[in-house]
Amino acid sequence: MITSLSRLAAFVLMSALLFGTLYVPMTLEAAAPPTLSLPIPAGETWKVIQGYNCGTHTGYDENAFDLVNVHGRTRGAPVLAAADGTYWWWGARGGTVILSHGNGFYTMYSHLESRVPFGKGARIERGTVLGTAGSAGTSYNNPHLHFEMFRGDGPSATNRRPVPLSFMEGYTFPDHGTCNQYAGTKLTAGSSGSAPHGLSTGSAKSLPPAPTAPTLLDPGSGVHQIVRWNASTARSGIKGYQIYVGSDSQGTGEWFVVEPQVALPGLSTGQYVVRVRAIDNAGNTSAWVTLLELTVP
Ligand SMILES: [Zn+2]
Repeated sequence: MITSLSRLAAFVLMSALLFGTLYVPMTLEAAAPPTLSLPIPAGETWKVIQGYNCGTHTGYDENAFDLVNVHGRTRGAPVLAAADGTYWWWGARGGTVILSHGNGFYTMYSHLESRVPFGKGARIERGTVLGTAGSAGTSYNNPHLHFEMFRGDGPSATNRRPVPLSFMEGYTFPDHGTCNQYAGTKLTAGSSGSAPHGLSTGSAKSLPPAPTAPTLLDPGSGVHQIVRWNASTARSGIKGYQIYVGSDSQGTGEWFVVEPQVALPGLSTGQYVVRVRAIDNAGNTSAWVTLLELTVP
């Protein structure tokens, strides 16, 4: 009896060593994420205007891309399912669709201004049009597609954590931990296998120096005041500028323009600052600069 118990104990211990500690945790945590394709129509090229980490991409949103259409309009462009799955969530306020792909993997598409009214649990195939891109939920008129994949636990996807993106078009984007990774990277859909791998444009740390800071050129005037500034320069070229208009003297924002000017929105009575920072094609940013202080009577 003692012998057989010992043998049993030994067997259990060996099983735990061989299968328990090695096999079980790996099946729980190492399920492969779904293979993604770019969530845009074949042939289109979109550009990352905000990449991984920092800014609004933190926490489980860390491995997100904000994408804009390079050769056409972003607002109204179709947004496509990146993989087969089921319809899991729609949030009107941020224009957010979340698809479930099994094993706790989800893809998320935000700022959609219209959506195809699928019900929860509807079967979705890769390439299905989910809606159209827009600026829902952004502070300003800055249409872009926020796209990410995350992993969560249980039916409510709790304990969400980011999953670095890769796409069957041949793009791989590991997370190196630095700010705004892959900003400026262009992605072309529907060229499976032919696109160059890992179009890494490097991280903010690896490509100094930062762009020069914008300086005020013309404050403009009138109701639809156009504020202009001197274009920044950078080794990789300037991709564009982020804008903040608001009451916070240290405010920052996601509003993105390509040209060194912005038409201010209609502002209600109050005190405002107009703040800008430059972003270069390598993803480096200048400091935020307050160009203008405004009092609207
Ligand atoms: Zn985003």
